Amino acid sequence: MSKPKVAFFDFACCEGCQLQVANIGELLINVLDIIQVVEFREVMSEKWDGEFDVSFVEGSITDEHAVERVKKIRERSKILVALGSCATIGGVNGMKNSFNLEEAGKYVYGESYKFFPTIHTKAVHQVVKVDYFVNGCPIYIPEFVAVVKCILQGIPIMYLNILYVLNVSLMEMYACMTEGLPVWDLLQKQVVTPGV
Ligand code: SF4
Repeated sequence: MSKPKVAFFDFACCEGCQLQVANIGELLINVLDIIQVVEFREVMSEKWDGEFDVSFVEGSITDEHAVERVKKIRERSKILVALGSCATIGGVNGMKNSFNLEEAGKYVYGESYKFFPTIHTKAVHQVVKVDYFVNGCPIYIPEFVAVVKCILQGIPIMYLNILYVLNVSLMEMYACMTEGLPVWDLLQKQVVTPGV
């Protein structure tokens, strides 16, 4: 059976979340056992012109070109994951939304600002459907790996969201789902010991 084809894409961001992934060392080897990375600009020059089983999108959407590009990535992706705070909430780039766009453009580009049209910063889910979210600035690698495993096993984001709300860590949740640990006991522990 062929491995799921996985790609990483970056939009407006510092690329620190992709760097976290590129630097995960032995964990990356474990992950590479079960997936095939077909596009990842920070670590390889190859491009893929087919469909992606899973696309990780890092960065926020800050101009019309990015809107069109992320829509095309969405069309080619069975599952799309927002990677890091820039992608999940707009991140640092979201500060632009507190200013007049023309003034912000002039501040960055001077009188050349007209050549760099901009829009209000958007998180990825404000432009296209997002199936999973990995939060953090930068992302926390054990959480990234847990989300990857959930995706590959078809564990839906609904469970992840419920467990986030109940303050159950992704690692605990993943153990419950895959090792048959008692989810209910874990949830009760969270409910009766708030703040502990
Ligand atoms: S979330 Fe933080 S670390 Fe990740 S790309 Fe954005 S600014 Fe960089």
